[in-house]
Amino acid sequence: MYYDYHVHSNFSSDSDTDMKDTIERAIDIGLKEICFTDHIDYDYCDPTINFDFDINEYTDYINKMRKLYGNKIKILKGVEIGIQSHIIEKCEDLVDKGKFDFVIASIHTCDRKDLYNGDFFIDKSPKESYSKYFEELLKCVKAFDSFNVVGHLNIIIRYNEAVAKENIRDYYNIIEEIFKTLINKNKGIEINTSGYRYKLNDFMPSYDVLKFYKELGGEIITLGSDSHVVDTLGTKFDYVYEVLKYIGFKYITTFENMEPRFIKI
Ligand SMILES: [Zn+2]
Ligand SMILES: [Zn+2]
Repeated sequence: MYYDYHVHSNFSSDSDTDMKDTIERAIDIGLKEICFTDHIDYDYCDPTINFDFDINEYTDYINKMRKLYGNKIKILKGVEIGIQSHIIEKCEDLVDKGKFDFVIASIHTCDRKDLYNGDFFIDKSPKESYSKYFEELLKCVKAFDSFNVVGHLNIIIRYNEAVAKENIRDYYNIIEEIFKTLINKNKGIEINTSGYRYKLNDFMPSYDVLKFYKELGGEIITLGSDSHVVDTLGTKFDYVYEVLKYIGFKYITTFENMEPRFIKI
């Protein structure tokens, strides 16, 4: 039984997909639950893109979907918030008002520069880029309280080939601090399988990092395809379950009203 907890719809400015189509596909492939996590990124560094939407409209549409499909699949209302250390208060307010089931905190912008278009990497060595990214993430997870998991933990490897060649073990000190902060705050991480659509051909974070999370006592893990179109729902979830079991994880986590529930795998 699979639970896709990272799915975008046309409430995100980078997706054209109607929730209806996604839900029908989710039912077809037998997903037990689907959680929409559309983008809200305040102070996004590219002013031509508006990663924001009307929460009331979003809630109404999800309620409508629940009426139509609620007997076939459980539909959760989530959000993927783009975190930056200078906007944490605004993010707290949003979650307070939004009454979400589930909140992913993700870094898309670092140092007020875009990871996606590569601006962030200009004038930085791969080591500087990686360190800066994890320092910003640590700052954010320390300051931010209103979220459940960190999204796509080492996403920056997706956007820069030189960074992708770095040995992640060189950053275990700071990753340890990030994980310990999350564990103490009862937060977790997601396994994001979108890497299979890109050159990475792996999930994020990778096997070694997941193992490290487990060794430190990490238990909360959600699974998400980060789909923006219907075809990628549930990508590689069967494989990820096997990997999780192999590492020694016994549960994956789902959320309702921000409360975790542990599902045996
Ligand atoms: Zn993201
Ligand atoms: Zn996403």
